[in-house]
Amino acid sequence: MALKQFKAESKRLLDLMINSIYTNKEIFLREIISNASDAIDKLHFTSLTDSNASREFEIRIDVDKNARTLTVSDNGVGMSEKELETNLGTIAKSGTLDFKKKNEKVDGGAEGLIGQFGVGFYSCFMVADEVTVLSKKYGEDVAHKWTSAGVSGYEITEAERETSGTTVTLVLKADDEDVKYSDYLEEYTIMRLVKFYSDYIRYPIRMQVERSVPAEDGKTAEKETVIETLNSMTPIWKRRKSEVKTEDYESFYMEKFGDYNKPARIITANIEGAVNYACLLFIPSEPPYDFYTKAFKKGLQLYSSGVLIMDNCEKLLPDYLGFVRGVVDSSDLSLNISREMLQQDRQLTEIAKSLEKKILSELSKWLKTEREEYEKFFTKFGMTLKIGAYEGFGTKIPQLKDLFVYYSTSGKFVTLKEYVGSMKEGQSDIYYGAGTDASSLRSLPQVTAVTAKGYDVLLMTDNVDEFVVKLMGEYDGKKLKSVSSEDLGIETEEEKKASAEKADSSKALLEEFKNALGTNVTEVRLSNMLGDYPSGLTAKGELSIEMAKVLSAMPGNEKIRAQYVLELNPAHPMFALAEKLMGEDKAKFGRLAVLLFTEAMLTVGINPENPAEFVKLINEFIR
Ligand code: ADP
Repeated sequence: MALKQFKAESKRLLDLMINSIYTNKEIFLREIISNASDAIDKLHFTSLTDSNASREFEIRIDVDKNARTLTVSDNGVGMSEKELETNLGTIAKSGTLDFKKKNEKVDGGAEGLIGQFGVGFYSCFMVADEVTVLSKKYGEDVAHKWTSAGVSGYEITEAERETSGTTVTLVLKADDEDVKYSDYLEEYTIMRLVKFYSDYIRYPIRMQVERSVPAEDGKTAEKETVIETLNSMTPIWKRRKSEVKTEDYESFYMEKFGDYNKPARIITANIEGAVNYACLLFIPSEPPYDFYTKAFKKGLQLYSSGVLIMDNCEKLLPDYLGFVRGVVDSSDLSLNISREMLQQDRQLTEIAKSLEKKILSELSKWLKTEREEYEKFFTKFGMTLKIGAYEGFGTKIPQLKDLFVYYSTSGKFVTLKEYVGSMKEGQSDIYYGAGTDASSLRSLPQVTAVTAKGYDVLLMTDNVDEFVVKLMGEYDGKKLKSVSSEDLGIETEEEKKASAEKADSSKALLEEFKNALGTNVTEVRLSNMLGDYPSGLTAKGELSIEMAKVLSAMPGNEKIRAQYVLELNPAHPMFALAEKLMGEDKAKFGRLAVLLFTEAMLTVGINPENPAEFVKLINEFIR
């Protein structure tokens, strides 16, 4: 029989395939095994209406090192001569797709068939010089052999095969400097590839392997050949939750994702919607060491009917949920990342949307039912959620704001809802202080002034906190107010009147302070919120001191600074000293102004530019 030519466009595609599409040559085994599994599925499916077809289904792998061949056989539906011709002679002609269409009306029938697009088989040519497909169609008497050495063409001849099914034999390419093709003849490599890509194929994948067993004398080891099943078949995420022990989920997670710690939370779901999928997700108990660095890669493992498509599919998770690990399995996805990429993309986007919703609702449930555990989680991963709220101009705030817990002056973590729920009579705003740590924040005079009224203050210590708060603006109609705001709204009418009078009479002094400090400050004013402190520092405008600190720490932003407002405490002895010096000793007054300004900077955690100069100043005034 003469050599037949591949269809023109197939030839081109074949060339392209071999040389470029799959950089990952090893996936050829996954492709052949998936085809075998599909073929068994088809027979299995037919056998539901045909009792003769019942038999033990299996996929066999055999190697012959001398002949350099790797063989994969199945006892599935097989192919007729015509099918060999159409399915393997034309690239992009997917028999699976045809079959699926024909059986669409049968309930649940062809669901779960893996391949959809006809390019998978040709990946064999990435590793083989010659490929033979010996196949006998179920219900037919004659078998046929399809042979091809690549682009040159293919040949189909009559052949012998005992039962229905297909045997694919690859003659591996000779090893070259880049690739050691003979690795694919090694037991170890095959076992590894099957475990990695095809562990959850639901038929046994068997291979003859050599095992050492102790001889009868108990010492010398003897070699024995046994048939071993290489895959575990049922994926844990496909099993019913009630049938799986928590320990099993935990060890699956620890093994698969290389974590020494048990997961903090396990999420399982079987979603039926625009795209159907099952997922098994984990929230780690500790962030990976590189979690808050650029090196960290988010992503979930993506399976299509138990076959691994992508080890780390980034698309499935928004950045702010990047800490979630796990697997997603959808029978709606095709195995090949191919021309149908666009369609796959749409399906992935659907799954990602649905996953995001699921994870957020799980977090919310966690917050309500296991508060302590949730707080632990939030201290470790809360920052990414907040970053999620900040990014995209706050579009995610509605979904996220109720998941935030803030440590507060009450000594506990509170949600915004809880804060508002326990606001004192007469309190109209939500108060927060932003800084680097809770204990320094607690001793800020402005915080003390607010707590003295009996109001709780949220102590915000994450860099991103204030940025989020500014975007939120309010919660449940209550303004979020920084304790360093000019008008905290906690003074009584009388206090306000007294302050206004004092401000009037101190006008000249404030002016002198401003002159002495020059461009360091935008404004100098009086404050009754400073307690035991002579001075305090806040900012004017949108950019708070904390926000400026965060921004200026980023490369290229070193010059960013808040517009400082120096606040002076009129009840402090230093204030009286300033009034005295203003008339008597201008130079000394200037030094006092610098002292009070530097002190104010220190209380909000900004170090003086010249510490030695500052120490000199302190000593001048405590003498
Ligand atoms: P896909 O699997 O994406 O459809 P392939 O190129 O891998 O594309 O295979 C082309 C077609 O050849 C399959 O759709 C199937 O009809 C047929 N085929 C391949 N391998 C087998 C097999 N082991 N048994 C029966 N049919 C097969």
